[in-house]
Amino acid sequence: MYCPFCHTDDTKVIDSRLLREGNQTRRRRECSKCKERFTTYESAELTLPRVIKRDERRALFSEEKLRAGMIRALEKRPVSVEQVETAIGRIIRKAMTSGEREIPSSQLGEWVMEELHQLDQVAYVRFASVYRCFQDIDEFRREISRLTRHAKRRKTTAIHPRKQNH
Ligand SMILES: [Zn+2]
Repeated sequence: MYCPFCHTDDTKVIDSRLLREGNQTRRRRECSKCKERFTTYESAELTLPRVIKRDERRALFSEEKLRAGMIRALEKRPVSVEQVETAIGRIIRKAMTSGEREIPSSQLGEWVMEELHQLDQVAYVRFASVYRCFQDIDEFRREISRLTRHAKRRKTTAIHPRKQNH
C-alpha cells in the first residue's frame, strides 16, 4: 500500500478491525517515511454481477478473463500495464455500480471497447473485429475509416489549439 502523502510503498498496519459484521476490514496505517497516518477499508468484491452469455448461460464475472481479452488485443502495442489495469478497474467499477445482479456479456464487451478505444486504436479494432463480428467487410471498412478520421481530427486539434474567444 502506497502512502497517499509521500507515495513511498513502505507503510505498516498499526490497527485492524472488522466492520459491518465482518464484511469489511478497517486498517490504520502509518507511513514509515513521512509518519503520516491514514485509514484503508478492505472488502470482498461480492457485488460483482453474474455475466449472461450469448447462449443464456450464467457465468461468474471473471477479472482474469477480462484482463486476458484486453491483453490479447493489446499485444505488442505501446500501452503500459498500469494503463490496462486502470481500464480494468474502471470496467469493474461500472459492473459493480450498475446495480444489476446480472449483466449481458455484450454489455461487458461494449465497456471493453470503450476503454480500448481510448487506449489504442489498433487494439480497439482487433477486439471489435473479433467481438462484434462485423456483419460484412463494408461495415468493417466504415469503422476503420471512422477511426482514421477521428484520429486525424485529434491530431489537428493538438497541433493547432483552438483560439480563445473573448
Ligand atoms: Zn508517507
